[in-house]
Amino acid sequence: MSLHTTPPWDSVRNYVDGSWRTPTGEDGQAIVNPATGEAVSHVEFSSAADVDDAVAAGRKAFETWQSTPVEERIQPLFALKQLLETHQAELAEVLVREHGKTLAEANGELRRGIENVEVACGIPSMMQAGHLPNAAPEIDETAVRKPLGVFTAITPFNFPGMIPLWFLPYAVATGNAFILKPSEQDPVVAERIFELIDRAGFPDGVVQLVHGSVDTVNALLDHDGIAGVSFVGSTPVARTVYERAAKNGKRVQAQGGAKNHVIVTESADLDFAAEKTVSSACACGGERCLANDVAVVEESVYDEFTDRVLAVAREQTVGDGLDEDTDIGALITPEHGERVRELIATGIDEGAELLLDGCDVSVDGQPGGTFLGPTVFGDVEPTMTIAREEIFGPVLGLVPVSDLDEAIELLNRSDFGNAASLFTSSGADARAVRHRADVGNLGVNAGTAAPMAFFHFGGRSDSFFGDLHAQGEDMIHFYTDKTIYIERWPDA
Ligand code: NAD
Repeated sequence: MSLHTTPPWDSVRNYVDGSWRTPTGEDGQAIVNPATGEAVSHVEFSSAADVDDAVAAGRKAFETWQSTPVEERIQPLFALKQLLETHQAELAEVLVREHGKTLAEANGELRRGIENVEVACGIPSMMQAGHLPNAAPEIDETAVRKPLGVFTAITPFNFPGMIPLWFLPYAVATGNAFILKPSEQDPVVAERIFELIDRAGFPDGVVQLVHGSVDTVNALLDHDGIAGVSFVGSTPVARTVYERAAKNGKRVQAQGGAKNHVIVTESADLDFAAEKTVSSACACGGERCLANDVAVVEESVYDEFTDRVLAVAREQTVGDGLDEDTDIGALITPEHGERVRELIATGIDEGAELLLDGCDVSVDGQPGGTFLGPTVFGDVEPTMTIAREEIFGPVLGLVPVSDLDEAIELLNRSDFGNAASLFTSSGADARAVRHRADVGNLGVNAGTAAPMAFFHFGGRSDSFFGDLHAQGEDMIHFYTDKTIYIERWPDA
């Protein structure tokens, strides 16, 4: 059975205890296609009672699920992988129609999400903790990992198909129950994924979906029945969620915003570096926590690199993400588009040189869309607002520096520590950056430092609050606690 891909779509529903329910909170909002400005669906927010129902169902399911053999627990994940792959093209279409990015980008993020399902299928090996016979005289010691209960993840708008899957597969494979609260700005793709989850064979209450906004999040954070919280979103909210969840005695990991740098040294392949730098800054409309939107360039190649960046940026086609020719889709809302334009105006006011202005872009036949073309600033000073604040639009700033030391110093002064990239052909430069750059995801001759699912997704400083990250082995640690058995059998 195929998924419903063509809007208008019915209002999104919660998925609680194995059935679809209408959220009963008082507020809600329209879901709008950013490329057309047209409403495609509606989301009602969940009340505290809806959250209570989901937590109660999750706790009931956990009683049995935690002791269900691990081999049985991963079978629905194998089914889910197949279902996600079979319906990937439909999911991508839905995602584009509520988010605005391109079809290629939507497919890319879904593939990344599926990879997390694949990794979580390896839980029977990954969850083992250790055994040591004769740890002391006549004593054997065994560590075991145990699931903890009901976990929740609160996710952002910019990767609505992938980020829920950074958490969901690991939480349930390790024996927990899981509740997703997706972004209220583009929650339809999450509902479609849950239509597949409904077919994948999970017992009722193991995987649930509640829609909502601030009040729903707070009901989850304050609920005694929630053992732990994963959050991904902007830094101010990440900090608040981290503090509130921790105060309530929960495990918490909270990933925040970013401001990432790319360093270009004089030995770099400048064509390659320019292409990857423009792509990093502008793909997904710049709405990526891994976007490198400040390029720190050695003076000796600054002019040459700038020319190449401008040439690549001018080639980008802005348009509806469903159009195959589109490189840069729409920004999520007119309000966000306005904020990006204001930051561009601030860049001009503070003295940066506007080399390419994307503000006047228009897309034929799409007068209601929120579009912005690639925008490039030259001679950016590190103290300027556009060099310090997350912009989340297709805006790149170029900063000339005298040498690599100055470049590393500059990126380490940032309040954020999410990601950085280096373009060079010098092993010594690469080693210096590896050792000294204070960021969580670091790429060398890779424009966007996105780790595969079997590695954790890094981040530090104002980009991350907590200790265990999303994806990979960190997830096993986050979703389990270790018990140690110390055994003596004197007659053996
Ligand atoms: P956001 O902080 O506005 O919202 C994220 C989630 O928090 C949503 O589900 C939303 O409903 C909820 N929320 C919003 N305000 C809240 C409040 N006051 N109290 C409680 N919950 C609240 O973020 P966004 O605009 O959806 O996403 C973009 C941000 O996410 C960017 O800053 C981006 O860098 C960041 N991000 C970070 C990573 C990472 O791995 N570090 C990954 C993706 C996105």
